[in-house]
Amino acid sequence: MASPVNVVVTGAAGQIGYALLFRIASGQLLGEGRPVRLKLLEIPQAVKAAEGTALELEDGAFELLDGVDVYDDASKAFDGANVGLLVGARPRTKGMERADLLEANGGIFKPQGEALNGAADDVKVLVVGNPANTNALIAASNSDVPKDRFTAMTRLDHNRALAQLANKFGVGVGQISRMTIWGNHSASQYPDVTNVLIDGKPVADQVDQGWLTDEFIPRVAKRGAEIIEVRGASSAASAAAAAVDHVHTWINGTRENDWTSAAIVSDGSYGVPEGLVSSFPVTAKDGRFEIVQGLEISDFSRERIDASVAELGEEREAVKKLGLV
Ligand code: NDP
Repeated sequence: MASPVNVVVTGAAGQIGYALLFRIASGQLLGEGRPVRLKLLEIPQAVKAAEGTALELEDGAFELLDGVDVYDDASKAFDGANVGLLVGARPRTKGMERADLLEANGGIFKPQGEALNGAADDVKVLVVGNPANTNALIAASNSDVPKDRFTAMTRLDHNRALAQLANKFGVGVGQISRMTIWGNHSASQYPDVTNVLIDGKPVADQVDQGWLTDEFIPRVAKRGAEIIEVRGASSAASAAAAAVDHVHTWINGTRENDWTSAAIVSDGSYGVPEGLVSSFPVTAKDGRFEIVQGLEISDFSRERIDASVAELGEEREAVKKLGLV
């Protein structure tokens, strides 16, 4: 058997972790039947629960699962890591100011960025824990790992948009291509249908502006709140599924003539200031994400992209003031 790929999952005892680990163990993250070694990182109080999940993983008798290790020390967990799924984060609690939230997360993502220096040369990092884009920025800024290995998740927003479009047009999600999420994984994100194709044909001119601005965009951007309202708990399995999609695409590539959405470190494309971790339309090939170039940006799109990117800029200023980047 090929040597196992080391996959670190932080916050492994949480809701998303619980859904995510079994997908990874069954081989859905990496593709091509590659064996995996799972490394679960938790805070000391949650290590016992993570150990319980490790027992359940053992009971899954997954043929591709080489083994499970549980840690409360980031440098040990990330030693030799090929993939890092950074799920554990400090949630916003009632009355908490944004600066406090960013500071609390800085205390998690700064040391994890440093610990990633011990990872394998090919390490790929996906930040899921919120505020995901800025947490990724903090980790990247405190690590010697090349910046293009740090990403944050907007794939769930992308998938949510595909599902809404599939409902609207009465098609399967697989018939839809070239959806884009721009900006921050927050309510300011811009789900952009300008370039969407259904069965290879453009649909933007069939989309009513009222539906777009009053229904589609807010529905996608606020879907998390809708899930909490209906399910009584935040989305977990769909977030885990999107994390699997993100990494699987990063490793195995995007479909021909299609792209996906991922938050990556900006190179200044589309006027997004360099260094911000912003969502873009991206293709993946040979284990690298690349921003799709040359798309026309309408005035409507420009305004929406700028608003979300401005929020990312404010978050960067706030963490700069805290000495985190
Ligand atoms: P979840 O597993 O439900 O969520 C984990 C993180 O993912 C949260 O920051 C959450 O943000 C975020 N997230 C991103 N996208 C989504 C989405 N679409 N839907 C829902 N969540 C999303 O949280 P739990 O509280 O169940 O578990 C967190 C675990 O992390 C705990 O076990 C805790 O001990 C651990 N932890 C580990 C750390 C470490 O390993 N060093 C550090 C901190 C915590 P949001 O809160 O905004 O929904």
